[in-house]
Amino acid sequence: MTNNEYEAACVTAAGCYDRFEGEHKLKQWDEQIATLEAALAKAHEHRREIVNQYNLNKCEHDYIAEHFGELRCRKCGEERSINGTRN
Ligand SMILES: [Zn+2]
Repeated sequence: MTNNEYEAACVTAAGCYDRFEGEHKLKQWDEQIATLEAALAKAHEHRREIVNQYNLNKCEHDYIAEHFGELRCRKCGEERSINGTRN
């Protein structure tokens, strides 16, 4: 092996090691991301359970007079007539 061939072999080996190291780091971050995504999905699941358990997805209407004989909820926009029947 000539000096030039030896040098080329070293450069190739170093390149292979760099790629191996990079792929290893990438794999570690992929695992970290997967763990965080699983935790996030779990957090969303718990949040949905609380919303359902306390019926928090339903509006506590806050009606304001809109037109004569008509009320409109300022939060969700639902309308009803002043005597309580829905339009
Ligand atoms: Zn409402």
